[in-house]
Amino acid sequence: MISPDQYPTIANQLLTWFTQNKRPLPWRTDYAPYHVWVSEIMLQQTQMERGVTYFNRWMQMLPDVTAVAEAHEDDLLKLWEGLGYYSRVRNLHKAAKIIATEHDGIFPETYSDIRALPGIGEYTAGAIASIAFNQDVICVDANVERVFARLFDIDTPVKQKQNMEFIRKTATEMLPSGRAREFNQALMELGALVCSKKPHCARCPLQENCEAFHLGIPQERPVPIAKKGIKHIDVATGFLMHNGKIYIQKRPEFGVWAGFWELPGGSVEEGETPEEAVVREFMEETEFPVQIKDKILVVKHGYTTYRVTMHCYFLTFAKEHTAEPVLHAATAYQWVNMKELDAVTLPAGHRKLLDHLQTDLRLIPLLENS
Ligand code: SF4
Repeated sequence: MISPDQYPTIANQLLTWFTQNKRPLPWRTDYAPYHVWVSEIMLQQTQMERGVTYFNRWMQMLPDVTAVAEAHEDDLLKLWEGLGYYSRVRNLHKAAKIIATEHDGIFPETYSDIRALPGIGEYTAGAIASIAFNQDVICVDANVERVFARLFDIDTPVKQKQNMEFIRKTATEMLPSGRAREFNQALMELGALVCSKKPHCARCPLQENCEAFHLGIPQERPVPIAKKGIKHIDVATGFLMHNGKIYIQKRPEFGVWAGFWELPGGSVEEGETPEEAVVREFMEETEFPVQIKDKILVVKHGYTTYRVTMHCYFLTFAKEHTAEPVLHAATAYQWVNMKELDAVTLPAGHRKLLDHLQTDLRLIPLLENS
């Protein structure tokens, strides 16, 4: 069992390793609070390489908090498109407005002020307080949990309350005062690069003190939580074409994908075919009578707790009809050409569909004859 006497040695080994091995990430050049904040929000649920690309693009367009506060939400959503979990960017926008109005555009420094901003939980507040302001605050993410589960051979799921409390308490005791910026990043970096899901113990600076390593069971830690089943959903949607344009509508400002433009559609109900579902959905959402001209393809898209199989069709009006819908599931609508469609922010599954459609040669004559 590791004793508290060993904590300073472990901390020093970590700090030395970090100095020699840290990745040259763009927000590590000056640790500006704005940069640290945006990087932390972007990197939630996003791989590092992808996060860096989005971060650099974001900073080119929005160099400071004021620029975010003054930006239009549609432009922020467009910059975020592809990262998913869009409540993150909406909260960034809200927080930037609060910083602009209540903190004179200067990022707040105290943990409680940081924590009070929209979209900032315990982990992110700790990350900003320590990485941007070098305050003696710990931050525990999944990488840190994994390192501690192995280092201390935690033999029950790390998310259990007593284990989370143990990790926070131990990390706080181990943190060398005045070195939180490096210490927290070192732990997370070690978890990302060395003590990863498949651990690389041979090049780990903590090997001599690691209990799971000595027991030969690093891969059995952390102990997994029993997984809930992943739900599968079939949905049907389609491109309704009329006078050379495609119909899209805007979702309400609440719920999943709030405020996004989309194609009408919805779940395939029990006993219904996807073809019947798309016709019914158009009628329910717009009162448009539509008919299927052709099937486009089936798109599969995975979310954290469910998988969607989307059946997509080319559609036209089933009979002579006005181009004006009666909106039942949207706040606005547009008839757009392909170029205009490319410029709007769509949910991830619809974006995949559109990317495919741009290479589908069947679309052109269908649009011309619609
Ligand atoms: S020795 Fe292996 S299991 Fe232990 S902390 Fe290092 S990489 Fe992780």
